[in-house]
Amino acid sequence: MISVNPKLDLTVLKVELVEENFIKRLMASVKCSVCEQHYEPDNISVLGHQDKLWFLRTSCSACHTQYLVAAIIKEDKMPELVSDLTEAELDRFQNVGVPTADEMLDMHTYLKDFNGNFAQLFDQRQA
Ligand SMILES: [Zn+2]
Repeated sequence: MISVNPKLDLTVLKVELVEENFIKRLMASVKCSVCEQHYEPDNISVLGHQDKLWFLRTSCSACHTQYLVAAIIKEDKMPELVSDLTEAELDRFQNVGVPTADEMLDMHTYLKDFNGNFAQLFDQRQA
C-alpha cells in the first residue's frame, strides 16, 4: 500500500528547484577551460541528481566546448565542482546529443541506484 502526501511532494519539488537554480548560478561563475568565457545559466542543464551529487551538462557560449560536470553540494560549504573528464570521455559525451524526456527519466531512475562509479555510469549509457 503506497500512500502519497502531496504536501510533502510539493516541498521536495520546491527544494529541488531552489537547488537547481543555485547550482546554475554557481556554474555561471566558472570559466570555460578552453577560452575562459564564463558559462551562461541558460546553457546549463541539470541531468539528474542523487542526494547531494548533481550531474550537469553545459556548453561554452563562445567556443561551444561541451562539459559534463558533477557537483557535490555540501551543507555548510561552497559546492565542490568536479569536471576533469578525459578527452575521450568528452568526445563520447559530445556525441550523446540532447537527452529526450525518456532519457532524462532513465537517468533519474538510474541515479536512484547509482553506486558512485561515474565512469561506469556513462559507459552503460553508451551501451
Ligand atoms: Zn569556451
